[in-house]
Amino acid sequence: MKNTIGLSLPAYSFNKENTALIIGAGLAGCAVANALARRGFHCKLYDQHPTIAAATSALPAAVIRPLISHDQSHTSFYKKAFAMCCRDLPQHLFKQCGLLQLSKSGSTSNITDAQWMNASTASSQAGIRLDSDAWYVKQAGWIHPADVCAHWINHPTVEFSGNHHVSELRQTEYGWQLLATNAKVIDESPLVIVANASSILQFNVANHLPLQQIGGQVDRFNCDRHCPKTIISGDTYVIPDIDSTSGQVSLWTGATHHRSQAMASVNASDTHQNNQSAKRLVPALTLQTDAQASFAGLRTATPDRLPIVGALPHASTYRQQYCDLRHGKPADQYPPPVYHRGLYAAVGFGSRGATQASFVADLLGQLITGVCDEPIVLQMLHPARFLNRELRKGKVQPSN
Ligand SMILES: Cc1cc2nc3c(=O)[nH]c(=O)nc-3n(C[C@H](O)[C@H](O)[C@H](O)COP(=O)(O)OP(=O)(O)OC[C@H]3O[C@@H](n4cnc5c(N)ncnc54)[C@H](O)[C@@H]3O)c2cc1C
Repeated sequence: MKNTIGLSLPAYSFNKENTALIIGAGLAGCAVANALARRGFHCKLYDQHPTIAAATSALPAAVIRPLISHDQSHTSFYKKAFAMCCRDLPQHLFKQCGLLQLSKSGSTSNITDAQWMNASTASSQAGIRLDSDAWYVKQAGWIHPADVCAHWINHPTVEFSGNHHVSELRQTEYGWQLLATNAKVIDESPLVIVANASSILQFNVANHLPLQQIGGQVDRFNCDRHCPKTIISGDTYVIPDIDSTSGQVSLWTGATHHRSQAMASVNASDTHQNNQSAKRLVPALTLQTDAQASFAGLRTATPDRLPIVGALPHASTYRQQYCDLRHGKPADQYPPPVYHRGLYAAVGFGSRGATQASFVADLLGQLITGVCDEPIVLQMLHPARFLNRELRKGKVQPSN
């Protein structure tokens, strides 16, 4: 990162004597519980739904892959996140069928983690005719997020409590209270991690975060004769899912995108769109038109498409402390940021939560315990980065 003024990490840390309270039991919250439990913390995971992975992480099939791009700014983050998935996800949960990303540009220059193939070699790899050259990622695959969440919280020091909607966070001398809608205290600890996707905006301490909801749908269609063996990705993707008893191949296809959507619900026009896009992506496919299953959900996206991970800054103090950022004062004239002590966020996973969650949770574990191997990545994902960028551009006043 070029300029890190205002993005220094908190100087304090927590030890395993503190119970970690985690709000949200999707991929993010379950991965954080796992990362902290492995560091010896007792973790209590709260969700408003009765079961884990009941919101966006109820997605039936999530692709895990690196970022195949010549733009180096995000690729190193994805490379590390993808490497951690390949290393840590159990084989029976990670279906590593490989992924072919179709290329329109025909560029054959080096891309980390991916092998260039012409259309004919790519077709042999896929087991179906492809009309474009492609990048092949042998280790890529897909997961069923709910199974991975269950695997992550299957630890003696992780407790899950469903049916708890946290409506407010209150700071006390001891730490943070999680309050229910009737203002009753659900629990209290000096260490709280908020992993509840865009609902983090309901808490005053985090309502400065620029999160956007993007709706989307995936559909599963039976595939009759010509079916791919690998995931095929382009503007859209198809994921082969083989029923182990009947041998029937079906394909998860998707996903649609609807900006600024408030609610997610399955609809027939998205099903039609997914069916048609899959056929455009792989014209040789023989796909039934009726969906066997469908899922609609809301992605929580950030403006730079990277998640928000780390200690939450005190926004109004931040705006005052750094109001001169655009004037280029020397770094040593700025104080370190003031944080809401003990309050951390892991949100904004967009369309790539499955690849990112375990790496991000590990980074948060490093930050919370003060043993940081990846300070530069943590600065890249810093919750204050958007305030910082606005101040640099002179877009906000200190009183905002
Ligand atoms: C159509 C579609 C396709 C996708 N495809 C892929 C893919 O192929 N690969 C991939 O990596 N990702 C994919 N994603 C994205 C992925 O699903 C998300 O990044 C991931 O599930 C986000 O996890 P999360 O834990 O942040 O959010 P969630 O799973 O939404 O978890 C947040 C949890 O917080 C709980 N909560 C919210 N507010 C409160 C509160 N006040 N009190 C208590 N609990 C609360 C919710 O009940 C929920 O369980 C896709 C998403 C969609 C919609």
